[in-house]
Amino acid sequence: MTEKTIHKTIIIGSGPAGLTAAIYAARANLNPIVLEGNQPGGQLTITTDVENYPGFPDGVLGPEMMDLFRKQAQKFGAQCFYKHVSKVDLSISPFKIYVGEEEYLTQSVIISTGASARLLGLDAENELMGHGVSTCATCDGYFFKDKEIIVVGGGDSAMEEANFLTKFASKVTIIHRREEFRASKIMIDRALNNPKIDIIKNAVVSDIFGSQKDGVNGVLLTNTLDESETKFDCEGVFYGIGHIPNTNEFKDIIDLDDQGYIQTKGKSTATNIPGVFACGDVQDSYYRQAVTAAGSGCMAAMDVEKYLEDL
Ligand code: NAP
Repeated sequence: MTEKTIHKTIIIGSGPAGLTAAIYAARANLNPIVLEGNQPGGQLTITTDVENYPGFPDGVLGPEMMDLFRKQAQKFGAQCFYKHVSKVDLSISPFKIYVGEEEYLTQSVIISTGASARLLGLDAENELMGHGVSTCATCDGYFFKDKEIIVVGGGDSAMEEANFLTKFASKVTIIHRREEFRASKIMIDRALNNPKIDIIKNAVVSDIFGSQKDGVNGVLLTNTLDESETKFDCEGVFYGIGHIPNTNEFKDIIDLDDQGYIQTKGKSTATNIPGVFACGDVQDSYYRQAVTAAGSGCMAAMDVEKYLEDL
């Protein structure tokens, strides 16, 4: 199906960056279309309490906050669709955005597709994801009541997840691949002071044992110093090993950095393609906060407004 309308702007992605861009673009009369993607609301929809977003002194649930973002965007006329962009043609204006066979034409694009959980790349991972292996403690922790589980990683996410999971699990072991943690001191201290948390350093998970029917029953740990292997019994495996940007559809189309994040110019959200802008985690591997993503979403909408005015 081909839509003949040439939109002023299309926003791809619906986390804090995309929906803030939608609020600003809608208020600037750009009638934005938001193609929300497979995870409407983005990563915050798989968290529980958000305690550091200004304006919510008592905290707010991630999914609830994203509903509020969407409502605010829709109030000003943004149209949000639960559709996943499969392909883009940004070679000539109007740009073409595809959702399967459906084609959208637009004068400008805001890319806010965010980032996704990094995986270890083990064969067992594919089979056991959702059957004892998880990338989201807040989503799946409840299923591990009174079980012994592991959390892989040594950053803030791993520490946070490990602490959170002690609400359910009888024991949580953090598996980290080297001696020093990447996490901040306060997060490390919380984990160290939690009696339900054990720590194994200098080890990687090199296999996961179990079945879809019975779940996980253990992992193979490889010592990173002497390469010795040990089987470690556990009933759940949580990944807290960082994220990768969702830029598959933009490879070889837009300039990406060596980690795959979209490169933006200077203090703006402009990409190397005039009329195409990027905001949020898809272009920010450093701050990665809801509030910074929202801020860059605002910038992207303002950059689009200026771009369209100049045309
Ligand atoms: P991160 O800081 O990139 O940490 C990823 C961790 O996973 C590192 O310890 C890394 O090990 C390990 N890792 C990566 N690939 C691995 C692999 N293949 N096998 C084994 N281990 C692997 O990611 P993050 O913890 O998700 O944090 C991302 C950002 O969000 C950070 O800026 C963080 O401060 C922030 N954050 C903040 C909070 C909070 O303040 N409440 C909570 C969560 C996240 P190495 O250390 O050896 O590289």
